Amino acid sequence: MLTAAVWFSCNNNKKTDSQTDTGPIADNDIRGYLSALADDSLTGRKPFTEGETKTINYLAAQFKQIGLEPANNSSYFQDVPLVEITGTPTAMQLNGKTSATLKPGTDFVASTRQELSSVEIKNSPLVFAGYGVVAPEYGWNDYKGLDVKGKTVVVLVNDPGFKSGNRTLFHGDTMTYYGRWTYKYEEAARQGAAGVLIVHQSEPASYPWSVVNTSFSGSKLYLQQDDKHLSRCKMEGWVSEETAKKLLAGAGITEDMRAYARKKEFKAVPLKTTTTISIVNKLKYSTSHNVAAVLKGSTRPDEYIIYTAHWDHLGIGQPDAKGDSIYNGAVDNASGTAALLAMAKAFKNAKEKPQRSIVFLSVTAEEQGLLGSEYYGSHPLFPLNKTVGNLNMDALSPDGESKDIPITGRGQNDLEDYVEAIAKEQGLTVEADPNPWAGGYYRSDHFNFAKVGVPALDMHTGPDNKEHGREWGTKQADTFNAEHYHQPSDNYTRDMDLSGMTQTANILYRIGAKLAGETTFPQWKKNSEFRAIREKSMAGK
Ligand SMILES: [Zn+2]
Repeated sequence: MLTAAVWFSCNNNKKTDSQTDTGPIADNDIRGYLSALADDSLTGRKPFTEGETKTINYLAAQFKQIGLEPANNSSYFQDVPLVEITGTPTAMQLNGKTSATLKPGTDFVASTRQELSSVEIKNSPLVFAGYGVVAPEYGWNDYKGLDVKGKTVVVLVNDPGFKSGNRTLFHGDTMTYYGRWTYKYEEAARQGAAGVLIVHQSEPASYPWSVVNTSFSGSKLYLQQDDKHLSRCKMEGWVSEETAKKLLAGAGITEDMRAYARKKEFKAVPLKTTTTISIVNKLKYSTSHNVAAVLKGSTRPDEYIIYTAHWDHLGIGQPDAKGDSIYNGAVDNASGTAALLAMAKAFKNAKEKPQRSIVFLSVTAEEQGLLGSEYYGSHPLFPLNKTVGNLNMDALSPDGESKDIPITGRGQNDLEDYVEAIAKEQGLTVEADPNPWAGGYYRSDHFNFAKVGVPALDMHTGPDNKEHGREWGTKQADTFNAEHYHQPSDNYTRDMDLSGMTQTANILYRIGAKLAGETTFPQWKKNSEFRAIREKSMAGK
């Protein structure tokens, strides 16, 4: 997964693998797949490596053996054309009210996804556009009356609700999609700006400048686009808070910039300063693959429920203290992929065949920015307005069963009510996202379904461990984040407790089975930012 995982590893708590009445999947159904996917022979499952070939062939072979049909005509594979762009920016020159030469990596990061050997921005006027948000459902438009052609917009991260003390302003502290950096870039491009710079602040971003620096410098993978990304801004980047403060002070704004931009009457402010920068690119084109199989529904085969789990991880990299350099990603995300296969088998072997079709989709390049699922969203194998819902599995817990079920970004859609019904039956509690301001809902593959209007759900087991309690569970999760998340030590071990993965898989199985037997479609909640997209899509527009 892209975010810090909430789960931990390493325990010697053995459990018997037994079938329960909570669902048809047992620990042993997951174990074989998990150990195979996290094996060293798959070399960390990185896109474009031998590890990819082995992984996708393994997945296709398993789908075939289970008896599922290929989802892409006669193929289990969907090509995902990618471009790797390695951009090197010059220093950024500021002229006007604020004059300075900004250093890349320290004062700003900048790149371009325009597939060109170089781009240049010359004397582009800087404009402070608040949060850079156009959200008709909240009556909010930071670009109102603003012509940004040729200009570079400076915008804040997160959304106006964050730390406003007002729970009805956007979603209060819970980040909406309008708060994500990806949105800021997209909106600036829609407005026709030449460049966009996000002001980095650790609190609303939920990560320090160092993360911005490592994530946005060097090479990045993108989906290939027909227009070569020429509709995107020439420059996309971030500036340090210190730089932004100087720029704003130059335009007479000395009060807290978030408070300033949060005002209902906010209007964009010209910063009386221009920016000049160029970026030189190295481009490399390659193709990775999603893997997909389908179990046709018995009575409504043209309506689909899609399970997703990303197969990719980080490959071979820096060795750790023990000399291990293979990033096997047992938890992240061999666990979800193994659960996907176990689920496929359970649906295939169920006495009662599902009435709607069930799709099992293992996507690529999640770790590179949710690219496989983004490609699926724009090139769906089945019509989106016939897709009932998406159930995603990313980094399932190796800590055993829990008494609580956290739903990522709770409050989005009706699929959460299905979780609640099952939880009630089993005496479990459903919990909100523990860090709603971090925008977890926008950080795994289900988000790319939400983005095209398909109700999507991401859930896990929580820290309140059934056997050892909450304190122990929380500590285990913290240990995983600190020591094993995105490290070579995210390994499979034979004594790993799989009952938590099985618990998640069974709950998601039961949701899918219920959806498959219904004729209705789950909806987005009233205040969800994805509701309007779905309504349009269902109306065939
Ligand atoms: Zn990850």
